[in-house]
Amino acid sequence: MSDEILRELTEKFTAAYGRAPEIVSYAPGRIEVLGNHTDYNEGYVLSAAINFGTYFAVAGREDGEARLTAGDLMETVRFPVAAPERSSDAMWSNYVKGCLAGLSERFGAPARGFDAMFLGNIPLGSGLSSSAALECCATFALSRLYGWEPSRLEMAKIGQRAEHEWAGVKCGLLDQATSVFGEKDSLVMSDFRSNEFKPVSFPADVCFLMCNTHAKHALVDGAYNERRERCERAARFFAAALDHPVAALRDVSWDEWLAHRGEMDELDAKRSAHPIGEDERVLAGVDLLREGDAAAFGRLMFESHESSRVYFENSCPELDTVVDAARGIPGVLGARLSGGGFGGSAVVLVNRRDAEAAAAALRSAYAHRYGEPCDVRLVTCSAGARIVR
Ligand code: ADP
Ligand code: MG
Repeated sequence: MSDEILRELTEKFTAAYGRAPEIVSYAPGRIEVLGNHTDYNEGYVLSAAINFGTYFAVAGREDGEARLTAGDLMETVRFPVAAPERSSDAMWSNYVKGCLAGLSERFGAPARGFDAMFLGNIPLGSGLSSSAALECCATFALSRLYGWEPSRLEMAKIGQRAEHEWAGVKCGLLDQATSVFGEKDSLVMSDFRSNEFKPVSFPADVCFLMCNTHAKHALVDGAYNERRERCERAARFFAAALDHPVAALRDVSWDEWLAHRGEMDELDAKRSAHPIGEDERVLAGVDLLREGDAAAFGRLMFESHESSRVYFENSCPELDTVVDAARGIPGVLGARLSGGGFGGSAVVLVNRRDAEAAAAALRSAYAHRYGEPCDVRLVTCSAGARIVR
């Protein structure tokens, strides 16, 4: 949360619409800490809501018009509140319209329109999920404005659907769930079979550095689909080979993978090793956090990255450069890629007292290899989406 952004938003809103906002909400971005590509294998993820987020200010109108302004671009779109349509130029508006459409489907279209504006400090498109933050803060504010009371899980799902159907991104539920279920000083433990989200308290003397490489490797969609297919085929193999039910890779243990890998298609074996190993690392990680063992937790993060690099092959030289550099930096406990992979960001676990020095060392190690430093931000585990006014 940032009082400065809240103040700027309130001022810009008042200047643009000639009155103060009635309601202001806030939703944070997120980092994925452990459990990579496990969500569509019905597995587990440890993630965190972060100290960067988006505010959404709104006031009701007497007529049926909706006016929506992106506060940093100062671009406004207008549409009938009861019939939003997908915009092909103001892409940013689709995330909000999609949430309004989802809420209207659930609660009935509103008769009264609104004036709204949003503003935040999450770097866009860097793997911190600015899109989920926008969906979640919009859903919170509009629900409050119209007196609707969706559950937190419903709000996350409305955001996910907006992303699928209005922004054209087939994401899992992780980003939105973390944004709504995040808690201060805690990670979120997600179970993507039962859709349960629980806080796990996080040691106070460590924090994260998020390193954005800005790398974007081609063929990401094709590579993503290949990984999903291999995981599904591997699950079918284990369903036939094991004498207990296997609905998804979540049901296969690492020991079972070791015992049967030689009988499988070689690439199916390799790909499936990653989500299977990640599930076990998440469960082990939760135990380690309960014991307060951040150092051992960090080692799991390094193992997770190694599994991405070797088995899932969703790392890239830029991410490997960050993780390799992190291994040699004093105070660093762990590092891994965060999110889909093939570029984007790496997350580094570091002792709080060493965080500034480690950030500088990471920037310079990256610059040494690529000429430009990667973008490093200090990230702390923060509270989830809420109404702030
Ligand atoms: P990520 O979610 O990792 O940041 P995405 O590509 O999923 O990356 O979402 C980024 C998009 O979300 C932006 O291109 C923009 O359309 C929209 N968006 C999110 N937050 C804002 C904001 N504060 N201002 C304008 N657009 C935003
Ligand atoms: Mg996104």
